Amino acid sequence: SKQDGRNCWRRFDRQMDETAQSRRALATEMKAALKRGEFRLFYQPIVHAKTLELRGFETLVRWIHPTRGFVSPGDFIPIAEESGFIRDLGAWILETAMEEAATWPDHINIAVNVSPMQLRGSEFERTVTDALASTRLAPTRLELEITESVLLEQSDSGIASLKRLRTRGVRFSLDDFGTGFSSLSYLRTFPFNKVKIDRSFVNDMGDGGSCYAIVKAVLSLARDMGMVTVAEGIELPGQLAALQQMGCDQIQGFLISKPLPLEDAREQVAQASDT
Ligand code: C2E
Ligand code: CA
Ligand code: CA
Ligand code: CA
Repeated sequence: SKQDGRNCWRRFDRQMDETAQSRRALATEMKAALKRGEFRLFYQPIVHAKTLELRGFETLVRWIHPTRGFVSPGDFIPIAEESGFIRDLGAWILETAMEEAATWPDHINIAVNVSPMQLRGSEFERTVTDALASTRLAPTRLELEITESVLLEQSDSGIASLKRLRTRGVRFSLDDFGTGFSSLSYLRTFPFNKVKIDRSFVNDMGDGGSCYAIVKAVLSLARDMGMVTVAEGIELPGQLAALQQMGCDQIQGFLISKPLPLEDAREQVAQASDT
């Protein structure tokens, strides 16, 4: 289980994820849940590190289950990946988020998480291309967040299709940077636009601690490679100050805002457009 501090959310019954049978049952339930509209997108603001101006949102999916209440993605995404349902769910997430973002001002981007399973086969490129066409969202406003494990599991043709999207202007962010050991080499194999420094580094960034040095090194490396840097999981003013001082470009975390339901996200967009 995770130490995310979102204790208010009901956890799944421990027994739920124990048998393959119950995972299958849940996978089946998910299909109906998507049709019934039980999945909801939340939007977490990403802001300029110095001015704190809104730069975009990261899309985070939630399952509002009729009896279990809020189910966190950490609980159902792995099951959706295992069953292959992540492709349908992922396509819905992409289209819904892009449709929403198309109504926002041009300088506000939308970041969408992509899981490895979603990229298997040739469907993904088509899904993105179709959604760009139907929503008319500028490709440069779409940021696909992928972890290094996504690239690790890709075939050459999978990588080639991501590169084609990249050529069309779609942006790519390397998510959870630093949590895998091969991160540095991935910066060479794929032209990322952005690096997201994982929350675990931000958390441990005490005075003079090793994480401070790591974050500082990552920021300067990313800058030298022409990439935008984001630090995620900022909860304390001290963390914000340190990252500002080190020249991090963008900030995301509970200190700025929790993930917001659609109406609240729209309000943030409206406020950002007023100024
Ligand atoms: P992630 O992509 O690393 O997303 C960031 C997670 O950190 C989110 O958890 C977010 O709510 C949480 N977070 C943001 N700021 C803070 C903070 O200041 N403190 C703390 N403690 N946590 C913070 P969430 O929404 O539970 O998502 C967990 C993971 O589930 C995501 O990690 C991502 O891997 C996956 N996920 C979420 N939504 C989607 C989606 O739409 N598609 C896919 N494929 N995966 C998703
Ligand atoms: Ca992410
Ligand atoms: Ca992340
Ligand atoms: Ca993560």
